[in-house]
Amino acid sequence: MIGIEFIESHLPARKRIALVAHDHCKGFLLDWAERQKHRLADHHLLATGTTGMLLEKRLGLPIESMLSGPLGGDQQLGARIAERRVDLLVFFWDPFEPQPHDPDVKALLRVAAVWNIPMATNEATADYLLGSPLMNQAHAYRIPDYDGYLKARS
Ligand code: PGA
Repeated sequence: MIGIEFIESHLPARKRIALVAHDHCKGFLLDWAERQKHRLADHHLLATGTTGMLLEKRLGLPIESMLSGPLGGDQQLGARIAERRVDLLVFFWDPFEPQPHDPDVKALLRVAAVWNIPMATNEATADYLLGSPLMNQAHAYRIPDYDGYLKARS
């Protein structure tokens, strides 16, 4: 696909936030989420399977859980992003450990970049995102113009 243009779209005020952490990073994500619980509670939360189960237990908030990452959960979240049903990704991937599902991890990071959703891959950036005034308001952003792409080729 060459020559894709971009169009303006909008992220909603109540965001659909996807949360994922690799095994050695789950503790960091759980501690971070607990600290940010008052903010996360305003939004719809999704997660890969194990991360979601642990988050639900720790936060007591409803989490829409996919399959576990290595069983396809990363791909499920990636599909949701491509369908524009996820607005923000917090993904604490492990920079110290190889993952059996590395292609899925890369695919999730890539599709989030393609669809230009806010994405944090560490705690510092996740704090910046959650602290942004844009978190609780609808706002414009740019997405690939797929309809325009098809029209230009028809
Ligand atoms: P998990 O998956 O939440 O089921 O552990 C995360 C991942 O490894 O992608």
